[in-house]
Amino acid sequence: MIEIVQNGHKVLREKAKPVLIQKIKTEEIQKIISDMKKALASQSDGVAIAAPQIAVPLRIFVVSGKIFNENFMHDKINNIKNIKEDLIFINPEFKKISKDKKTMTEGCLSVRPLYGKVRRASRATVTAYDENAKKFELGGSGLLAQIFQHEIDHLDGVLFIDKAKDVHEINDEDAK
Ligand code: ZN
Repeated sequence: MIEIVQNGHKVLREKAKPVLIQKIKTEEIQKIISDMKKALASQSDGVAIAAPQIAVPLRIFVVSGKIFNENFMHDKINNIKNIKEDLIFINPEFKKISKDKKTMTEGCLSVRPLYGKVRRASRATVTAYDENAKKFELGGSGLLAQIFQHEIDHLDGVLFIDKAKDVHEINDEDAK
């Protein structure tokens, strides 16, 4: 079992370092990606995870394939349908981010058991490298745009509780 570090661990407050593109295919980076996928899969309510959450200060995040499932808000995601594989984002950067914002309920695998309301841009497009070192671009609205912002915050040492209002505890059942 891969440990997901909790708020209070200093790695969550570090600015994560970029991955050297020529190192993406190395065993070292592939193992980190695999550990991140395992850690994410171990959390039934998890939709994404950033490398600092498994104590690795590198600019990588993984979005669970389950959010691209037809039954999980696929209508809110541009360009892409029915992808069920986890998506890997290495050295992600915002290419576009909407001025239009929405207040969204948010939690974090590293800030259990708190939830709160965060103002997030309602649409965002990021560029990143995938696990094969290929550059790609992906845009989304709603949940996917929220995930992009939450995960890139992690890479900059920011947690949602720094920005959230109405922070409160919620039990697992309510969280789903
Ligand atoms: Zn988080």
